[in-house]
Amino acid sequence: MSHVLRRSLTAEQPVIVRGEGAYLIDSDGTRYLDACGGAAVSSLGHDNAAVRAAVTRQMETISYAHTGLFTNEPAEALADYLIAHAPDGTGDGRVMYLGSGSEAMEAALKLARQYHLENGQPERTRLIARAPSYHGNTLGALAVGGHAGRRAPFQPMLIGVDHIDAAYPYRLRHENESETAFALRMANQLEDRIKALGPETVAAFIAEPVVGASLGSQPAPAGYFKRIREICDTYGVLYIADEVMCGMGRTGSLFALEQEGIAADITTMAKGLGAGYMPIAAVMASQTVVDAILSGSGRLWNGHTYMSHAVACAGALAVMHEIDDRDLLKQVRTLGKRLESGLRDALGQHPHVGDIRGRGLFWTAEVVEDRASKAPFDAKRNLAGRLQTAAMERGVITYPSQGCADGVQGDHVLIAPCFTSTGAEIDRIVEVVAESITAETS
Ligand code: PMP
Repeated sequence: MSHVLRRSLTAEQPVIVRGEGAYLIDSDGTRYLDACGGAAVSSLGHDNAAVRAAVTRQMETISYAHTGLFTNEPAEALADYLIAHAPDGTGDGRVMYLGSGSEAMEAALKLARQYHLENGQPERTRLIARAPSYHGNTLGALAVGGHAGRRAPFQPMLIGVDHIDAAYPYRLRHENESETAFALRMANQLEDRIKALGPETVAAFIAEPVVGASLGSQPAPAGYFKRIREICDTYGVLYIADEVMCGMGRTGSLFALEQEGIAADITTMAKGLGAGYMPIAAVMASQTVVDAILSGSGRLWNGHTYMSHAVACAGALAVMHEIDDRDLLKQVRTLGKRLESGLRDALGQHPHVGDIRGRGLFWTAEVVEDRASKAPFDAKRNLAGRLQTAAMERGVITYPSQGCADGVQGDHVLIAPCFTSTGAEIDRIVEVVAESITAETS
């Protein structure tokens, strides 16, 4: 019996003992093809020798020294790497390291506040985010998130955050509305909300470039983020890009925002940064933000004990080098096409699949009871959970979600295979996902 406090206190879970490429192996010897890397975490599979070697080497020299006094070589090299690969505009930015995506979001919100204070605009305290969205489970990140189900129990304890609609074409795009018109209509909600709140009171807008858990994997309509950037610039509002799930190569470019042709003021990243080998997250600040701090107080008003942990940074740096050395972004784009066309062929006409969406190796099927009305199955059916079990019984791990438990969205099956997958593994994932959906909806 495990001593770990499990999410479900009664669940009997298999004990995982080993990883082999894209496979997880439990104590009974059962092998599971990992089609989601947890929640889009394990981008390099489960037994990467280069990362293991880098982590071991680092432990043999120095693991930890407090960031109040010291930096370390892997932390600096990783920051150089991230800044050099950031979408245009980050210039001479800087990076801070944290332990999880939620912590990174908290740090990003505080950094936005610090920026405005350093700039002599203390009245800028308001945050605007989107719904549906998910930005983490700590109280600040939960408040920013537009995830009805996860917010509900903690609602009275959450700071006030304004929400506009996330761009979700399957349900929000009008019939006969062009993609461009839809993108503008959605983005202009931000301008309307800034004006309604008073532009001088708004600190930041928070959005994922490609939405993860709350909407499956939802890219923005073309032109959406260009308009968002314009609006933020017009009103002096910072844009915080949450790349915790969609970043680090998952969508075919290191940062998902690169494909939108704009840069963020503050970027958060986590999952794929350590690729599951290290629990590490980061916040990258653009030069504008850094300059305000350097010409103001000159120091960061945030700190955690394990920031810039040398072993975590060495592991993440090795993950980035693997992506480059093995040309894995190209692999993501190639395998992504195979995954997309496999899903469209197998499920495009399925009576209970309403939408298939994604980018790179980040794809989702939204399952609905009625394709014509887009009505979801009754939540009591726990279809998302059943779809996960059905796939697992067939030896494949997927990431299920009941949308935001808002009763509006259907159940999702999210697929985020490792970048090192073979074509045959991608085909097998598609086959099992299609079989599971058919089995559980008929
Ligand atoms: N932001 C996004 C977009 C996420 O998907 C997540 C995790 N699913 C988080 C933040 C929070 O990250 P963590 O679970 O590491 O705290």
